[in-house]
Amino acid sequence: MSNNTLRIIFILSVICAVLMIATQFFWIKKAYELEKNLFNIHATVALKNVAVQLRKMNGNTSPVDSIVNRDRVDEQFYTVQVNDKIDSSILESLLRRELLEQQLKTDFEYSVYDCATENMKYGKYVSYDSSKKDGLPAPIIFPKSKKENNYFSVHFPMKNSYLTKEMSKWFFSTFILFLFLIILAYAIFTIFKQKRLAEIQKDFVNNMTHEFKTPLATIKISSEVLRNPNIIHNPERLLNYATIISNETIHLINQVERVLQMAKSGKEKIELNKEWIELKPLLEESIDKTYKPLIRSRGGNIEISLQNENLKLFGDRLHLKNVIGNLLDNAIKYCNEKPSIKIIGSEDNLGIHITVKDNGIGITKENIPLIFEKFYRIPTGNLHDVKGFGIGLNYVKLICKQHGGSIKVISELDKGSEFCIFIPNNLKS
Ligand code: ADP
Repeated sequence: MSNNTLRIIFILSVICAVLMIATQFFWIKKAYELEKNLFNIHATVALKNVAVQLRKMNGNTSPVDSIVNRDRVDEQFYTVQVNDKIDSSILESLLRRELLEQQLKTDFEYSVYDCATENMKYGKYVSYDSSKKDGLPAPIIFPKSKKENNYFSVHFPMKNSYLTKEMSKWFFSTFILFLFLIILAYAIFTIFKQKRLAEIQKDFVNNMTHEFKTPLATIKISSEVLRNPNIIHNPERLLNYATIISNETIHLINQVERVLQMAKSGKEKIELNKEWIELKPLLEESIDKTYKPLIRSRGGNIEISLQNENLKLFGDRLHLKNVIGNLLDNAIKYCNEKPSIKIIGSEDNLGIHITVKDNGIGITKENIPLIFEKFYRIPTGNLHDVKGFGIGLNYVKLICKQHGGSIKVISELDKGSEFCIFIPNNLKS
């Protein structure tokens, strides 16, 4: 799948997701308004019936216009005109019955206005669950209406939570929609990840072919020169070509070692052969054979600086040598000038710190967390002048972790980098 197709799929998915969410919210809002209207219709019908029945009980059958009014400011207050005597206990049971009839299973509070005293005479909080009598909140103070005749007021304190409960089917469909969108996002993310992996794999094969082809071609040419019987008369040339073959063979061995490291780092846990190791000889062994000559050939220098000569660490000799080798390899590779490298060793009461400091090209802040990812190489546009597989630092981090330690990077672009590893003196791990 090409990058453009992927981009189009991504953009279309985002647009569809936004439209689906917007539509869902539109319908939820509409449904909420509908539920609110239904509530008001049912409440009005119930309260009207209560008023008519109260008047009937008093033998009054004359009609009253607009019996139920809703407070304009707070829509949860209903004022019901009765224009007749109101018995509060009868009122309560009528309210309970009529509201249940209209399927309004929610708490309510009511208050009765006495036009003789011009006061709200009686108020009570009633739970829709008739078994619940104790611990109910005190009724609120009802606002007085402008009406002068007898009336009662009803308030639904739980109206909002009642409406929210009624909306639960809508919330469920929204949940399903979000679940679907999360799955879609995950699928797109996986496609991108797979694509990146495929590209990385292609790069890796290209790099590896190049890394193996060049030394092999040099060895082939050198060995052909050595096959010439006349070369025996020119010992200097013979030595020269033999050295080339030897150097290229070391290079190939290093590459093979690196690929093996990668295969190992794919495993969950690397078996460590831990022992007490003197840091100074370990560092000298790591640099002497390969790196010192390489740095010298580029006119650079390398220095080891130790807090004291007797520093010792508890770890796997072979893997720690590889770790230092990888850091040095990078310090030389990613340097455009004469490499100037310093290895600093120190200890504290927790363990040993080894820092490899270079004067190379440096790493940007954004790239620092990424360089430890397997196969990650900092993009350099189309310029592939420095070869590598992007597996060295992943291995370094893995080995530090397996030792119970850590790795930290301090770097500034165009100034250089410091890779600080910490290996604890933890005899148990
Ligand atoms: P490789 O060197 O084979 O590409 P690594 O895992 O060793 O793989 O390094 C990952 C990336 O981190 C490198 O491609 C390089 O861009 C960056 N990097 C590593 N070490 C240094 C360094 N000392 N200076 C600058 N960049 C570095």
